[in-house]
Amino acid sequence: MKSAPIPDDEHIRLAALYSYRILDTEAEAAFDRCVRTLCRIYDVPIAAVSFVDRDRQWFKSARGLEDCETPRSISFCGHVIAEGGLLVVEDARTDPRFHDNPLVTGPPGIRFYAGAPLVTPAGQPVGVLCIQDREPRTISKEELIPLEDLADLLIAQLELRHRENEQRLRRQLEHRQRELEAIFQAATSVSLIKTDLEGIIEETSTGTEALFGYARHELVGRPVSLVHLPEDRFHPEAIIEHLRHDSTPVRREMELLRSDGTTFPAVFSVHPITDSNNNLIATLSVTFDISDQKWVEQQLEQALRAKSDFLNAISHDLRTPLNALMGFSQLLAETDLTAEERRRYAEYCQRGGERLHGLIDSLLELSQLQSGRLQAHTEPLDLPSLIEGQCALYRPTARAKGIDLICRVDAGLPRWVRGDRTRLEQALSNLIDNAVKYTTAGGVTVTARPEGEQLAFAIEDTGPGIPAATRDQVFAAFDRGDYEGEQPGHGLGLAITREVAQMIGGDLHLHSVEGRGSTFTLTTPLEALDDRRASRAQRPPTETTERPRPGLRILVAEDEPTNAMLAQTLLERMEARVTVVEDGASALRTWRQHPFDLLLLDLQMPGLDGLRLTRAIRDEEAEGRDAPPVPIALFTAHARSEVEQQGFEAGCDEFLTKPARRSDLEALLVRLAPRDPP
Ligand code: ADP
Repeated sequence: MKSAPIPDDEHIRLAALYSYRILDTEAEAAFDRCVRTLCRIYDVPIAAVSFVDRDRQWFKSARGLEDCETPRSISFCGHVIAEGGLLVVEDARTDPRFHDNPLVTGPPGIRFYAGAPLVTPAGQPVGVLCIQDREPRTISKEELIPLEDLADLLIAQLELRHRENEQRLRRQLEHRQRELEAIFQAATSVSLIKTDLEGIIEETSTGTEALFGYARHELVGRPVSLVHLPEDRFHPEAIIEHLRHDSTPVRREMELLRSDGTTFPAVFSVHPITDSNNNLIATLSVTFDISDQKWVEQQLEQALRAKSDFLNAISHDLRTPLNALMGFSQLLAETDLTAEERRRYAEYCQRGGERLHGLIDSLLELSQLQSGRLQAHTEPLDLPSLIEGQCALYRPTARAKGIDLICRVDAGLPRWVRGDRTRLEQALSNLIDNAVKYTTAGGVTVTARPEGEQLAFAIEDTGPGIPAATRDQVFAAFDRGDYEGEQPGHGLGLAITREVAQMIGGDLHLHSVEGRGSTFTLTTPLEALDDRRASRAQRPPTETTERPRPGLRILVAEDEPTNAMLAQTLLERMEARVTVVEDGASALRTWRQHPFDLLLLDLQMPGLDGLRLTRAIRDEEAEGRDAPPVPIALFTAHARSEVEQQGFEAGCDEFLTKPARRSDLEALLVRLAPRDPP
């Protein structure tokens, strides 16, 4: 047997064959019809369209054959390809090329064979259209013309399809190209960079320009290492090398370089771009700027740290007085105490309680101020008496320490101004208190003077001063500098005072020279008033020395037994007749059955709470009781401003914040309870 020789330009022939993408495709009616027609025209049992691959011939359509492919080495068609023209074998048994061919000696037992090549327009024979018989035959050239014509028709058909395919692919490619360009254009907030395998930039998105500060033309054609720090471990070459062997995208978080030399934190991933054989041909890197995310993470970390510092400081400041309170109250329970010891221990307990009260009040105050929900309430103020009033509070302490406390109002200021009395007094008091507390020699001067459109209060002392490094920190909550344990305080005064200053439309500044003293300047908007009108409009003093009338009938609704007992004891000491109930529903029932001069209701009670109870009482009163409405005070442990509005809307007359001092309770009875017995 003689195998057909392989043509010299076999690789070109194979490329032409592969370009038709016909090998191993499904059966098609057109080819089957052609093969059927051949069998009919030539009256042969076997006909086929085959394509000759590198090592095999593959039948696109065949009649009378079992296999769908046979080795090229034994194929008759291989000879048609080698010759490039019509091949006729009239009796294979007598042909030296085929007499011992297994297709002759075994099935299908070929004797007669005629094959016409399928030749591309470029002259490459890619397949064969053939007829075969199991009997020898003679056939003339003319008789084979239909076979050749059909072969030409088939290749023309394939060629047409091929061209249509190419056009469709070209259109698809153009479409894809335009899509890609649109993606690169539209990617404004993310950087897309396509590089070749040398790491040279081929294409960039609009976002790349914004992110790295380069124009597109400054990037294309340059190495992508341009945007990487030189000391970077993940150099682009290393990434490309990795992608050659592993197609999973490489994802990194690192600092990248802008055109102006600055850096920014980024997340970028490099994706492989491969050809149809999965070979790496380019890379696409996608980069996001994560500066904002990093900033948020940092803020969160700082906030968590601040929270934990705050909790540490709070728990320390709460535990110290609590410790005294618990220790001395335990001692008080002992029986063998002298009267003097008992008085002293009770005093320590009271001091501990007051300290706790002060701290909780300050914390609530600070949180309310920081929430931004508080508003300034202005009224006419007599400036000299406002300042003198605050200085007078600290004169005894200053005198005891042997330091001066002077107050001065600039002649250029009006006597009457409009301002928030409570807040100004609070701020001045905090600042004068500190100045006197931290000054051991010399003195403190409090001045009010105009400063542009503002009124400025300067509290100047000759104290130790505040080191430059800690000047900002003193305004932070719980920062006590070096005075922790040496001077009383919680480190909340300045934080509150600055918030207060800002709430009333001003600010608080510090100037200090270490070893020489400090000046805190509190500013507030200056609104001068006409002297006479303002003095008439000033509110009357609210302080009173009046005592509550004995025999007041008071209903206390409080679910916490200790608080209930405390209220009852204090009120009974004021000679009141007290009824205590432990929930809202009992309070409502008791009020319906007995007359009272005052109701003291806890805001938070199980079931009917203080607000709903107040509403219920006011509704029933409105429905027809002739008696005047009973005064109601609500007890609350909350920050008052949060519930005040709701309380007054429900119909309460006053609020009392827990823990209430005896004097607060006494003043409340005087204000609310009727003076005359019923
Ligand atoms: P407190 O006085 O309760 O510690 P503040 O918030 O009023 O809290 O003050 C914070 C810190 O600022 C003080 O602990 C102290 O270190 C410093 N400070 C405040 N006022 C003065 C002052 N006049 N002179 C020196 N240090 C001061």
